[in-house]
Amino acid sequence: MAGTLYAGVDIGGTKIAVALVSEEGRIVRQARTPTPAGGGAAVPVAAARLIAELRAGLPGATVAAVGVGSPGVIDRAAGRVVSATDVLPGWAGMEVRATLEELTGVPVTVDNDVRAMAYGEAKAGAGAGFSRVLYVSVGTGIGGALTRDGELEYGAHGTAGETAHLLVPATGAIPCGCGRLDHLEAVASGPAMAAAYAARTGERLPLPEIAARLADDPAARDTVHGAAALLGRALAGLAAVLDPDALVVGGGAAQIGPAFRTPLTEALHAEALPPLRALPVLPAHLGTDAPLIGAALQSKAALTTRPAPHTTGPQTTGPQTASQTGPRTTDLQTTSQTGPRTTGPQTASQTASQTGPQTGPQTTDRQATGPRSGSGPERG
Ligand SMILES: [Zn+2]
Repeated sequence: MAGTLYAGVDIGGTKIAVALVSEEGRIVRQARTPTPAGGGAAVPVAAARLIAELRAGLPGATVAAVGVGSPGVIDRAAGRVVSATDVLPGWAGMEVRATLEELTGVPVTVDNDVRAMAYGEAKAGAGAGFSRVLYVSVGTGIGGALTRDGELEYGAHGTAGETAHLLVPATGAIPCGCGRLDHLEAVASGPAMAAAYAARTGERLPLPEIAARLADDPAARDTVHGAAALLGRALAGLAAVLDPDALVVGGGAAQIGPAFRTPLTEALHAEALPPLRALPVLPAHLGTDAPLIGAALQSKAALTTRPAPHTTGPQTTGPQTASQTGPRTTDLQTTSQTGPRTTGPQTASQTASQTGPQTGPQTTDRQATGPRSGSGPERG
């Protein structure tokens, strides 16, 4: 009954979540575990163990591939973390794909977590049915991604959809992740709203507590409303550039709900060019499931687009060293190696026989903590 499943892994600073997801993007089973305190290589080990445990509870199920949504800048071709904030110690430079492929014995894809969320929402959430979706995540930072007909667009340098660094006519209470005070993230992220509230009232509170005061605290209302409106105005300009047919708003801060989304939408529609004044602004549907479903479906999609990565091998050495010097330099070999979103249908039949679900995943789950150097997709 369970059939072929895909594992989605959501790696965060405090917890690792794993879900087994059906071909259609439905979560069959999920679990989470605290992120190992030391971070680093213990993280994929913990993820592999969770996958094995979930799989063991589903007799007859096959885990065909694993998709990971990770914080930080990700070299998708190598499956490596190029850089990451100190939210996760020892994470920058982590060979996530190589490690997890060795542990699980099935193909692994790795992408930035916001991209995984956007992909999940586009395929199986609020963006499903729309053609060109701008996904904006408002949480501890501001992230974004663009999908077209359900496929992620990465751009020439991997920054497509990035919204944090839009210039805004305001000065944030805390710096943007890049250090600037006049970037969107410095004004409209969750911590930025909390810092603005503290500057206004002298009270340092986490955003959910500020949100709980919206009904009877004018300072809370002004703070959240102001940030949401500025976000809407900035996104109006971005919408004119990208011309999406839907905007999906997700992330922790967006869970404030209509008190955040309504001023955002009103400001966006007021500021936007006439054709964009009815642009649907939709709440994300999948919540914390979005990165799990998205990452799992990314791993599924890669099975049909990878040109047999496990039978060749020589090309893995070049890219890995090349990419250490620069984040997105590896998009070049992506096309030859994994062809992430090139969706070359001509490779589908060929890869299906080589990397398809039949190649032994059912024997991998119980051994997830032990390397299987021979049978797993070799990357190193
Ligand atoms: Zn910035």
